[in-house]
Amino acid sequence: MPVDATLPYDDQNIFAKILRGEIPNKTVYEDDFALAFHDINPQAPTHILVIPKGAYVSWDDFSSNAGEAEIAGFVRAVGKVAREAGYVEPGYRLLANTGPDSHQEVPHLHVHIFAGEPLGPMLAR
Ligand code: 5GP
Repeated sequence: MPVDATLPYDDQNIFAKILRGEIPNKTVYEDDFALAFHDINPQAPTHILVIPKGAYVSWDDFSSNAGEAEIAGFVRAVGKVAREAGYVEPGYRLLANTGPDSHQEVPHLHVHIFAGEPLGPMLAR
């Protein structure tokens, strides 16, 4: 069900459980600010999710309420994951769904990294 990004954080969401180690994941990268892991239902040859370790519902919540170190750490982690996977030269796409119109499904901020083939037009029409 699409997420209402204005709701308070729900610590029973699936990515909160992944962060607590209650649900397994295929980790790509981890540091103090971020965890990156493979999407369970990949939409491209490479489909990685990067999430902040802090409890933020959405990009809106994170950009409003996270501290400077968390924001810098998270943004650098997204770049590092894509760089270390070798996708700077061929290119990659970032996506952060926020709220119902975007069809956000999990109410913990996540940035999708899509890569590994020409990705086509930005939005299906
Ligand atoms: P959204 O639509 O919220 O932007 O994307 C949620 C993403 O989380 C989807 O691409 C979905 O496949 C992925 N996802 C949902 N549950 C799990 C899970 O338990 N593990 C992993 N690795 N990915 C998940």
